[in-house]
Amino acid sequence: MPGGKTENKQEAIMVTAIGKGGRIESTDACAYRIIDLARQQLDAELPELQPAVFLLPAVNIKDAPGPKPRPATAPAILTDSRLLYYYPERTISAYREDRQSVTRMMLHILMHGLLGHFEKCAGRQATWYSAAADLEVTDFLLSYARRFLRLRGEPETGALLRGQHGRTAEETYAQLSEWNTDEDRVRSVAAPLESDMHMSWLLNHLRCYPSIHCAADWEEAACAVALNLRDAGRDGLAERLEGAWGFAAD
Ligand SMILES: [Zn+2]
Repeated sequence: MPGGKTENKQEAIMVTAIGKGGRIESTDACAYRIIDLARQQLDAELPELQPAVFLLPAVNIKDAPGPKPRPATAPAILTDSRLLYYYPERTISAYREDRQSVTRMMLHILMHGLLGHFEKCAGRQATWYSAAADLEVTDFLLSYARRFLRLRGEPETGALLRGQHGRTAEETYAQLSEWNTDEDRVRSVAAPLESDMHMSWLLNHLRCYPSIHCAADWEEAACAVALNLRDAGRDGLAERLEGAWGFAAD
């Protein structure tokens, strides 16, 4: 049964690592193991994504270069496109609240990378591109891995999602900018789709940190994932990834 082994490991983490009478690990080690478990779950349940699942090395946020997001607003994990940073306490607390939450966040982040958002955000207005990118990730996952989505039921968000079905982030962005859509409204309508913090990768471009871009790695991973999707008979999804990078799998 899919996920059976990872569920057993989740139990082990809850009992031995988070402290219910067994051995208690350090907060950092425990968070790292939760992240590792999320990777194993994605690898087992969405095997087509394997080329991307292990692409981002996990690093404690305290070792992140440059300015750090304020803890009051930061999620459990985030990326700058090269590394996966984690807040140990937030990772543990998110996991305790919902054992799938870190897996969902990681999947969302990986999809941004596979769809090329880390690079294509360059030169775009942050709020609109952020919303457009989350719409594309959510739309892709609705077809590919719906069980890893937790959509809240805001009618405006659902209407926007339906309206942008099958569109790339760039197409949605062009529409939002053409309409000169109010930023606050876009932010609030798109908020239920967001499960990561985009500023960490958007800032790469705004603050010109070219050394932490790794577009080639993401392109290579997207190409391999597209081939896996073709092999699995998911041609429509493969075409979306291929279209995002302008290549065709054979
Ligand atoms: Zn996102």
